[in-house]
Amino acid sequence: MTRSSTLLKPVDQRLLRGEVLARRRVTPHMLRVTVGGGELAAAFEPRGADQWFRLFVPRPGQDALHLPSGVDLKGYARYLTMPESRRPLLRNYTVRATRPGEVDVDLVAHGDLTPGTVSAAGWAARCEVGSPVALLDEGVTFADDGTQDWTLVVAEESGLPAAAGVLAALPRDARGIAFLEVPTREDVQPLEAPDGIEVRWLVRDDPHAVPGALALRTVTAAALPTGRPYAFVVGEQALPQGVRRHLVAQGVAKTDIAFCGYWKHGAGPAR
Ligand SMILES: Cc1cc2nc3c(=O)[nH]c(=O)nc-3n(C[C@H](O)[C@H](O)[C@H](O)COP(=O)(O)OP(=O)(O)OC[C@H]3O[C@@H](n4cnc5c(N)ncnc54)[C@H](O)[C@@H]3O)c2cc1C
Repeated sequence: MTRSSTLLKPVDQRLLRGEVLARRRVTPHMLRVTVGGGELAAAFEPRGADQWFRLFVPRPGQDALHLPSGVDLKGYARYLTMPESRRPLLRNYTVRATRPGEVDVDLVAHGDLTPGTVSAAGWAARCEVGSPVALLDEGVTFADDGTQDWTLVVAEESGLPAAAGVLAALPRDARGIAFLEVPTREDVQPLEAPDGIEVRWLVRDDPHAVPGALALRTVTAAALPTGRPYAFVVGEQALPQGVRRHLVAQGVAKTDIAFCGYWKHGAGPAR
């Protein structure tokens, strides 16, 4: 994760073990994995908005999930020194929806999804019901205190679950605009949002374009509402960085912008 705004972390963080309950493709580029059972069903606390978590899943060929003994910095250091034969995959994801005992996770289907590929996307494409997972709740970054005049939400597909959560959490009388970029028209999803929020879907016409570039161009060229906004901007790191820079140049206070680089185009796979 690249630089981001303030984080509202849970006080008691602990790893919750569970398992895959279901898997399906929601749209051409979005895979939904439903997890639950075990400690997850008993202790996971839904917080709404862009609640995110660290997801631990087995690498290809691992039949068990070996977790680090702690979740503090020492635990992370121990995770990094685990031999690759035991070390699980660790990636960041957002709560898309919850039901009692169940959490839906929407993972962008990117890159090579064939068996043996070491990525969370590859795991989501082939995981089986009963396969072990663990979640570490990291809380929410959306911190609108309700004093702003309007809300701006900007994301490409990796931020769609977070944008959906934020829009659903807004008060019914909220006003504003959401710019949501997706790879194809078929990737548009029905979203719950207040009537006063205009949801603009931006469909990429170039399959080789870097996700987020279209949203950045569109937002910086748009005539935005007047008054004080609260902005939530996430996705490939050039998108939040670029939109934040633009808003600050327009006089928006940095404290009124929640932003997070979710991934970096051109980077190698994380460990
Ligand atoms: C707080 C937070 C919440 C997030 N929530 C979600 C979420 O709900 N859903 C979601 O899909 N992602 C989400 N992400 C982004 C996700 O963590 C990254 O995309 C992650 O790198 C995916 O892991 P991977 O193992 O599939 O690919 P990696 O092994 O990490 O990367 C492999 C290659 O794929 C590229 N890559 C990574 N992600 C993408 C992408 N989305 N599109 C195209 N290329 C990519 C990398 O640049 C790299 O070259 C979130 C990130 C953060 C920080």
